[in-house]
Amino acid sequence: MSLDLLSIVEEFGSPVYVYDADKIAYQYNRLTSAFKNVHQLRLNYAVKALSNISVLKLFKQLGSGLDTVSIQEVELGLRAGFDPEQIIFTPNGVSLEEIEKVSAKGVQINIDNLSVLEQFGSKYPDVPVCVRINPHVMAGGNTNISVGHIDSKFGISIHQIPHLLRIVENTSMHINGIHMHTGSDILDIDVFLYASEILFETAKNFKNLEFIDFGSGFKVPYKANDIETNVEELGEKLGERFNEFCQEYGGELTLTFEPGKFMVSEAGQFLVKVNSVKQTTSTVFAQVDSGFNHLIRPMMYGSQHEIVNISNPHGKERFYSVVGYICETDTFANNRRIAEIKEGDILSFKNAGAYCFTMASNYNSRYRPAEVLWYNNQSYLIRARETFDDIIRNQIEISL
Ligand SMILES: *Cc1c(COP(=O)(O)O)cnc(C)c1O
Repeated sequence: MSLDLLSIVEEFGSPVYVYDADKIAYQYNRLTSAFKNVHQLRLNYAVKALSNISVLKLFKQLGSGLDTVSIQEVELGLRAGFDPEQIIFTPNGVSLEEIEKVSAKGVQINIDNLSVLEQFGSKYPDVPVCVRINPHVMAGGNTNISVGHIDSKFGISIHQIPHLLRIVENTSMHINGIHMHTGSDILDIDVFLYASEILFETAKNFKNLEFIDFGSGFKVPYKANDIETNVEELGEKLGERFNEFCQEYGGELTLTFEPGKFMVSEAGQFLVKVNSVKQTTSTVFAQVDSGFNHLIRPMMYGSQHEIVNISNPHGKERFYSVVGYICETDTFANNRRIAEIKEGDILSFKNAGAYCFTMASNYNSRYRPAEVLWYNNQSYLIRARETFDDIIRNQIEISL
């Protein structure tokens, strides 16, 4: 059997997120083989991209570790069957208390500011810690998604390395990894290699490293002619340089990445139904049974998700503005060429695996969509559509 999206809508209703497990496995294996020249490679899937527990179990099966940013993501990972040692905690701006709680579970801690480093190191000098370095290299040049610039809230500036070293010495704490995550787009491999050199230089300050974590930033195509990170070229170049560095360093280190989008973006599709087709003086609107309560990336980041009319895939193309049903401007696509749309048609948003469901909300008191995993030629419901009970659950009705 092959993946039949229309029958998934028939069975589970709309709107619904559908994820293809084969595509996730393909991406995982693609990245693994790109770095086959590296002796020890570890991929920690970034849970925040798509955090459904069944998806996490799939990553466990593939041999992946997890990258987490909240104690709740850690709990999800443990619930999915990961060992604490397979999880790294890379939060930003969380309390020392949360870091202590996660550390107590045996999860690798990654600290990204000197104040917390000093406090944690003073209290737990024997717990190995990774430090997040900000090499101040702009990846992609878009300040919305670049976290490497000088005033970024992420990471410990390379200009603060002397202070970092003093804290490590004063507390006798043990640094076992160094990390960077420069932004969302590796467009230019040479720029990434340049940032890596800064990380290698930093690494030389620490004698007992076990791993170097290069974060993520793998770019996937969203629309025709989009640039995609050439992971094969990156694997070849960075892999070779990494092996060379291990020789200089005098020990075998693990090369780590923590990709989210690369792993799941293209595996996901979001299926919605067209409620109405509305002509105005300047455009034709296709209004669907969704909005930024279910998929906010187009409004928040200006992301252009390809939209296909799967009810009429070979229809004559016309221009549409695809909008939602929220009482707020919620334009998914402007003036987009799509096969002719009738009311009741099902549209598919591509690249809906990463940062789509996980950013969904109940705005307008709407239910969050169902999620379906296509696995071993079968569709599995992995999250039920919400009901009114979910809307009212934590609300407390006082007598007035
Ligand atoms: C979000 C995040 C990632 C994943 O980024 P992608 O662009 O989805 O691959 C990796 N590492 C950290 C620390 C993150 O916050």
